[in-house]
Amino acid sequence: MKKIVVAGGGHAAAQFCASVLETKQAVEITLITEETHLPYQRPPLSKTYIKEAEPQPAWLRPASFYADNQINIHMNSCVTAIHREEKSISVNSGDTFSYDVLVLAIGTRARAHDLFDKNRYSNVFTLRNIDDANGLRAQIGDARNVLVIGGGFIGLEIAATSRAMGKNVSVLEAAPRLLGRSVSVEVSEYLLHKHRSEGVEILLDAKVDKVDEKDGRITAAWVGDTRYDADVVVVGIGAVPNVELAQEAGLECDNGILVNRFMQTSDESIYAIGDCTNFPYQALNCHLRLESVQNANDQARCAARAIFDDPVPYTALPWFWSDQGGVRIQIAGVPHASHVRLVRGNPADDKFSVLYFDDNKLTCTESVNMPADHMAARKLISSAIEVEPEQAADPQVALKSLSQ
Ligand code: FAD
Repeated sequence: MKKIVVAGGGHAAAQFCASVLETKQAVEITLITEETHLPYQRPPLSKTYIKEAEPQPAWLRPASFYADNQINIHMNSCVTAIHREEKSISVNSGDTFSYDVLVLAIGTRARAHDLFDKNRYSNVFTLRNIDDANGLRAQIGDARNVLVIGGGFIGLEIAATSRAMGKNVSVLEAAPRLLGRSVSVEVSEYLLHKHRSEGVEILLDAKVDKVDEKDGRITAAWVGDTRYDADVVVVGIGAVPNVELAQEAGLECDNGILVNRFMQTSDESIYAIGDCTNFPYQALNCHLRLESVQNANDQARCAARAIFDDPVPYTALPWFWSDQGGVRIQIAGVPHASHVRLVRGNPADDKFSVLYFDDNKLTCTESVNMPADHMAARKLISSAIEVEPEQAADPQVALKSLSQ
């Protein structure tokens, strides 16, 4: 019987347990998570959880799943060290657990901001887990002014959610455009216009010079001579992979825990999956670290197969979604700056897709309120079917028809 220890209790960990059970092999699984909850879905935290009257965590699996399958869960328990020679790990209580295979599914943490330090100010939040969301919920109801630092996905989702709650919302983004590292100029510009038209104040190239504080709370931020009032501050300036545990154990890391195409780290008994990994992405012949539910789930499936001698290299097509008020953005593939970009549809209609081509191959799409384009693009990109770019960009032609 294989003894598997899983460190982490998020999307990747829960999917990994399910995928291992599907192999029907004799196995003993121990899941160790520092959180005090069973694994739950993170995406609702920035979208619906904040504004619902009595929100419930969206559990990834019911409690009975773990109990019925004899998965030993240790919550509120942080893995503090890996002892590779002995094949065991230690947790903060002092207990140790031995393993045949260790799976690191330890995700990321929110990047800290020097000026907006959540440990110093009681009205500053980041949003990574349910406890963060509950803290924000407890204050946002009474807040008039919500200040969001960072115009990335989480910042913009929170901005839209707060605006829907009737708050005055300001977003301060340090870069010259929104989501600059994640989407095309066309989608950035559309979102800038859309959020502004909903009443969200957005400042680009915004360097915060100083903050005003009172009684341990930030009351305003200053950009030059302009003051932005704040009753609540949400900092969304990206995430940092949790690599320290792996690094201290001597595993190779570089912007994430380095894994091969089977999610194996530089130690063959240790796998890593999800947001914490940096993996080879064959389609662009590069290494990537992705933060998405798709990547966490598919890497978990890949690792489970590899551990039970049915290895299939990880080639899953990356995809992602973000809901910002009434706007759904869906991305398939990975944008590449050198690929030719065409816009399908009209942003003014609140429905369009940006298509990326490498010659006649579709490599990536960013769809705004165009779910059919997104689904068709996933098929076209995965199958590498050649298409005529001008034809694909013609909104009169159903993308789906090109994949048949
Ligand atoms: P996580 O889900 O972060 O889980 C890691 C777990 O490991 C955590 O429970 C953590 O507490 C635990 N842990 C860390 N260190 C240790 C340790 N030493 N010992 C024990 N436990 C440890 N993705 C999308 O595709 N679409 C979305 O719309 C979307 N929205 C999001 C909104 C929010 C607010 C957030 C935070 C994320 C969102 N994401 C979204 C990203 C998505 O949730 C992540 O990509 C996904 O959760 C990654 O899964 P994971 O298991 O790798 O990491």
